[in-house]
Amino acid sequence: MKIGVYGGSFNPPHLGHVRAAQACKQALGLDRVLVIPASIPPHKQLTSGSASPTERLALTRLAFENLPGFEVLDLEIRREGKSYTVDTIRALQAQYAHDELFLMMGTDMFLSFQEWYSPQEIVKRAQLVCFSRYDADAENRAALQKQADALEKLYGQRPVLLTNDCFDISSTEARRLLVFGIAESYLPQAVLRRIEDQKLYGAGRDYRALPFDELKTVSLSLHKKTRAAHALGVCETARQMARQFGADEALAARAGILHDVTKALTGPQQLLLAEKYDVRLTDFERENRQLLHAKTGAAIARALFGECEAVCSAIAYHTTGKPNMTTLEKIVYLADMIEPNRTYPGVESIRAAARLDLDAGTELALERTICHLQEEGFAVCEDSVRARDFLLRERNLTKHEA
Ligand code: FE
Ligand code: FE
Repeated sequence: MKIGVYGGSFNPPHLGHVRAAQACKQALGLDRVLVIPASIPPHKQLTSGSASPTERLALTRLAFENLPGFEVLDLEIRREGKSYTVDTIRALQAQYAHDELFLMMGTDMFLSFQEWYSPQEIVKRAQLVCFSRYDADAENRAALQKQADALEKLYGQRPVLLTNDCFDISSTEARRLLVFGIAESYLPQAVLRRIEDQKLYGAGRDYRALPFDELKTVSLSLHKKTRAAHALGVCETARQMARQFGADEALAARAGILHDVTKALTGPQQLLLAEKYDVRLTDFERENRQLLHAKTGAAIARALFGECEAVCSAIAYHTTGKPNMTTLEKIVYLADMIEPNRTYPGVESIRAAARLDLDAGTELALERTICHLQEEGFAVCEDSVRARDFLLRERNLTKHEA
């Protein structure tokens, strides 16, 4: 018999897991696939708020139930200590002495295989199989080939590389979608139902009126890791500017920490959010997907976090600006442009202007954005042009009056 072994954290299991495993089973002509959730994954720490090992086992059972040829095993959950694959493979080989084992994994795991515990012994006992998406770009494809060559050289076994057009979703993304309430098309129905019933992964929790520290934790957990510093930077910069220019510091900090809260979502996920929260999008926004996160972020701030209108509208216009902005809107717009992690050419002069005068800083920031987009051949949002012209006019009027 040909037996597939598919381990992982399944935190939570999603349709990407299910579809990839099915495609793998078919491509290799496997008779059975053993799906094995890890108790304590050796390679990574599970994020806080993860479901317990027994809960992940229950969810994984639901994800693969009714699929012929699939069986979910609890052997890693029952075993004490870290869930080393080599222990699992050893146990399975003892049990299936006359069968052929195929160890299935996604690209991340495959690329770090040398760092696993006892890779040599794993390869002796099982055939490595890596699955990736067809549309993986050339660079990723080359990395997989290179790794396959390296592993063959090291361990004397050529890994099998499979491509499929499976669902593009990770567990990290699935957890985000659960919080935003748009995970429906990404998780098996029974899995989603249980997560919602048990209120796992923050799904269906009441996020309204959170104290700032909690708001910060939740917001950062929804960001990509690489974007957390930016969110914190905008938050602190907005707070300082609010102090200087006489706006509400607490609201500035809340808008700052939330301003990019939906930025990690893909274009299609943004559109799902827009639909769920009744966000009306202009044609321009639909065509310029990088603008969507401001609108969906504002909708989430309102509907999920129960933030006030002042905060929501500062988030809604943080990318484009608009004519006649409130002080808080200007602050968040500018903070997004000049927080300490920003390094583009010209940022220093905008920082200098903003230190002296909020309007002058905002005008310069808008001007810089408009020029930059034009130079790069991108469309410029009408709101930005009108915002700049509005500020220009206002400042000229004040000059004349003076
Ligand atoms: Fe943004
Ligand atoms: Fe931002």
